[in-house]
Amino acid sequence: MSPLPTHPLPATQRLFFALWPTALAAAGLARAGKRLHEVCGGRRTRKETIHLTLVFLGDVEVGRIDELLELAGDIAAPPFRLDLGQYGWWPHNRIVWAAPDGMPAELAELVDALRERLAGAGFRFDAKPFVPHVTLLRKAVCKASPLAAAPVAWRVRDFVLVRSASNAAGAAYEVIGRWPLARSAAAR
Ligand code: ATP
Ligand code: MG
Repeated sequence: MSPLPTHPLPATQRLFFALWPTALAAAGLARAGKRLHEVCGGRRTRKETIHLTLVFLGDVEVGRIDELLELAGDIAAPPFRLDLGQYGWWPHNRIVWAAPDGMPAELAELVDALRERLAGAGFRFDAKPFVPHVTLLRKAVCKASPLAAAPVAWRVRDFVLVRSASNAAGAAYEVIGRWPLARSAAAR
């Protein structure tokens, strides 16, 4: 006779869509983080976890994840180049970030396409205006902002769905879906 499970599986998972950097871009961003850490202190984002959030979903019912994977797979959007040359600090959440020099149209369109499909399917998500940024330091304190660090060129070729399971050691992320951006595609 099998005992009743003492730790039932959670009914929801914390999810977000993101861009995950290429090894080259991650290395450049980690270098920038190291440089800015010397100025502002705080806790550096580990190179393996550096990302740019596209849409934050928060808790999603496990039973709806397949629907999410399908919806993302229906998106046709082209690859693009992201030039991260802006660095700064937000005092309200003490984050030091890297941001693109300008918003590439392809990035805005990718986020719009995701939001539109998510809303259409009845998913809830953070609907604040999209402010593209890569968190490099947390709990940082800088004397000034903007900050200076070497720019990073990132060739964005895909987007991902990530499961976030934070524990005492910090956020643990697991990529649970990945979709290529196709040159022939125009974001719809
Ligand atoms: P932790 O919260 O454990 O410190 P984390 O912030 O990296 O770690 P999550 O809170 O799961 O992990 O967030 C995952 C990503 O989504 C991060 O890039 C985070 O900045 C972003 N994010 C979290 N909450 C929101 C929100 N309400 N709106 C927009 N983006 C969010
Ligand atoms: Mg968080």
